Formats: sequence, structure tokens, C-alpha cells
Amino acid sequence: MNYMSKTILVTGASGLVGTAIRKIAPLYGYKFVFSGSKDCDLTNYEQTNAYFNKERPDIVIHLAACVGGLYKNMNNKVQMLEQNLLINFNVLKCCHNIGVHQCICVLSTCIFPDKTTYPIDETMLHNGPPHFSNDAYAYAKRMMEIHCSAYNEQYGTNYSCIIPCNIYGPNDNYSLEDGHVIPSLIHKCYLAKQQCAPFEVRGTGAPLRQFIFAQDLAILILSCIDRLKREMLIVSPSEEYSIKDVATMIAREYSYEDKIVFNSTYSDGQYKKTANNAKLIEIFPEFKFTPIEEGIRESVDYFRYNYSNPNCRK
Ligand code: GDP
Repeated sequence: MNYMSKTILVTGASGLVGTAIRKIAPLYGYKFVFSGSKDCDLTNYEQTNAYFNKERPDIVIHLAACVGGLYKNMNNKVQMLEQNLLINFNVLKCCHNIGVHQCICVLSTCIFPDKTTYPIDETMLHNGPPHFSNDAYAYAKRMMEIHCSAYNEQYGTNYSCIIPCNIYGPNDNYSLEDGHVIPSLIHKCYLAKQQCAPFEVRGTGAPLRQFIFAQDLAILILSCIDRLKREMLIVSPSEEYSIKDVATMIAREYSYEDKIVFNSTYSDGQYKKTANNAKLIEIFPEFKFTPIEEGIRESVDYFRYNYSNPNCRK
């Protein structure tokens, strides 16, 4: 079978990473099917099964998930657990039903154990409970890894899990309450400047995070198709930044650095989740990550330009 005859189904295609994959898909010799929530409700088994039978993909890149930042995870544990368990169960089971041999699933470095040694690597995923703030999400995602391994062991499939750090970029979810830190702060700083108000950052600003630009992740996911064999792969740059660092970079884009305040009545979440990208660097030694200042500039520009666009998620 040559590449051109292979069909890749991308779930979660209208999200942050899905739109980044869509942008570069024409450069790759596959037929792509992009599935967003309007095409199929992945929480519904019958619909998902009918959809997979209609599209009959050879490869599935499974991005769809119920996701959000720290505060969405803390305040919506039932939804984070149930939606993700349903979506992941249905997608993997329907992959099996129609004989999909390769599936690339996406986890997150935020599902690693809370009490751990650093840096965390792929072998440590199940070594202890996740941080209490996102345990519901984390256990649902960990279960997907168990589900992939079970299919691989029993049926010889090639189902793998990519583990990215905190993802950001254009077409993010810029929700003030539910978004991840970079998009939420891009929105908050925009409003603060408009209202000549302080730019409030939640928590102490001390926690450390690794961040990946969505377009970089999209390239790496597609590059993994020929490389990953029934395994886990952490996908993250090495550098860590404090929340204060990223808030300052965002404020700089608005020329509003002197108005940052920290509200430490809010939770900081896990202090750090430093992930080891040695395996990634071994596979892709030449890969150059987008510098965070550049990625933040592009994300702020996207938000400013699209603020009034009804498709801008906020
Ligand atoms: P995490 O990386 O999974 O913890 O998720 P986030 O992207 O939500 O990042 C959470 C970190 O950013 C915590 O230390 C928060 O205190 C800090 N933070 C500061 N302001 C905000 C905000 O407006 N939204 C979010 N989600 N996090 C914020």
C-alpha cells in the first residue's frame, strides 16, 4: 500500500492541535479525514462506530478530549473523568472493530505522578497517584494507555501514546475560567489593558512548566507515524519557565509589564512536572522548537486579530 492510498482520521480536528495538523496536512502524502464534534459525537458508541465504518481509516490520530486548564480540572472532575473515559473507550474500540492497525493517542505530562523524582520519563507514568487537582482527568488518560497496551498485547496492533507538555498556540481556547495558562492570560491581559486595570495572574507565579507550540507538536505527531511502535513518547522542549516568566512575556506583547499582580488566593497546582525529552531528541535530533517568545507573539497576534470573530473560542 503506498502512502497516498492510506487514510488518516484525525479526531478533535477543530481544536488547537487539530487545526495545526490541518495546516500542514497537504505536505504529507496521506488522505486526511478531519473529524470535529459536529461530524461525530465520540461520547456515543453507536455514532462513533457508524462513523468509523463510513470513513474506514488506516491510521487514527486521536486528539479529541475534554480538556482545560487547572481550574477547569479542579471544578469539573466528573465531566473530565466521564467524557474522557467515554471518548477514549469508543475511539479505541472502534479502531479495533474496523481493523485500524495504527493509532496515535495523546496524553499529557500533567498526568504523571505528583510525588516523583525529576525529570520524569515515559517509564514512570503509572508509578504513583497524580496531583489531586487533576486526578479525574489524569486517571481517564492513564486508562487510555492501559487500553492501548492491552490491544497491542492481545491483537498485535500498533497503538502508541504521545505525552506532550503544556500546549499553546493560535486557535487555542482563550476562556478566562477554563483555558490553560497561556491563552487565559493572553485574554486577561487584553481586557486589563482595555480597562486600564491590573493584569491579574492566578497563584504565586512560581510554578514551573514546559510549553510546546501547537504547530511544533503537529509536525512531530505526523513525523511519528513512521517511527512509533507500540510505545510512549514525551514530546516537549527541555526549557522550563515560571508562570511569572510567561505572564511577563505576554504582558510585554501588550506593553503592559508594569501592571502584573499575583493573586495567591488561587491554587498554584502542581509545582512542576519536569519531563525528560531524551527519547524524543534521540529520534528527532535535528528538530528545532519554536522559541517561546515567538510562539507567544503569534498567539497574542491571533487573539487580537480574532477577538471579535465568533469562531474565536473564549
Ligand atoms: P497545568 O499546566 O496543567 O497546571 O495547567 P494550566 O495551563 O492551567 O497552568 C496552571 C498554572 O498557571 C498554575 O500554576 C496557575 O496558578 C497558573 N495560572 C495563572 N493564571 C492562570 C489563569 O488565568 N488560568 C490558568 N489556567 N492558570 C493560571
